[in-house]
Amino acid sequence: MIARAREVGVQQMVTIGSNAEEMTAVTPLLAEPGIYTTAGLHPNSADQWSDELEEQIRERAQHPRCVAIGETGLDYFRDHVTPEAQLIAFRHQLELTRELDKTIVIHCRDADDDCFRLLVAEGPERVILHCFAVPHRLDEALANGWWCSFAGNVTYPKATDLLHAAARCPDDRILLETDAPYLTPVPHRGTPNEPAFVMDTLRAVASVRGVDSDVLAEQVMRNAAEAYGLAT
Ligand SMILES: [Zn+2]
Repeated sequence: MIARAREVGVQQMVTIGSNAEEMTAVTPLLAEPGIYTTAGLHPNSADQWSDELEEQIRERAQHPRCVAIGETGLDYFRDHVTPEAQLIAFRHQLELTRELDKTIVIHCRDADDDCFRLLVAEGPERVILHCFAVPHRLDEALANGWWCSFAGNVTYPKATDLLHAAARCPDDRILLETDAPYLTPVPHRGTPNEPAFVMDTLRAVASVRGVDSDVLAEQVMRNAAEAYGLAT
């Protein structure tokens, strides 16, 4: 997958660590050039929060290739973990991010009121809204100085509001992502998503913004460098 991504020009990738097993599993990949990771607990696993896990996240965050805390956040769509448990894990990770002066990667699904409120009140300076899904709150996110990261679902025929948000997100606030293996962009829908396919999302978003794909790609890489503190 990494080779296929490089073949189409994707040189840097952030593989998300969203629970204890994933943080351990990605370790060998961090020896590869251009591969970065994050450390955190996903809201759908928030019932796994413990002091021990917090220590593991803190330790992983010191790795030179660990560029953010997350993904964390709130997900009231999938409700097998209670909002109370999610809020505990989220607030601990907000605090940890501030303590370590890291960037935070946010997963927010059907929970934007609580998510935005907590990010404003307790969030760190650098916030990435991963898989941006609240086009009606784009202006608010921008006013808070957050980056909006658009995933493959922006290419879906019914996603007109989302595509419109991707069109008007300012140059210095837009990010693109795969969210692999989920949200495979058109024309690969029906197969698992992978990093190489971010180029399809890039083309769709560049087209609606009326810019050349190469120009948007450079812009997104500059933004990612700033958001994550990646080497350029
Ligand atoms: Zn997510």
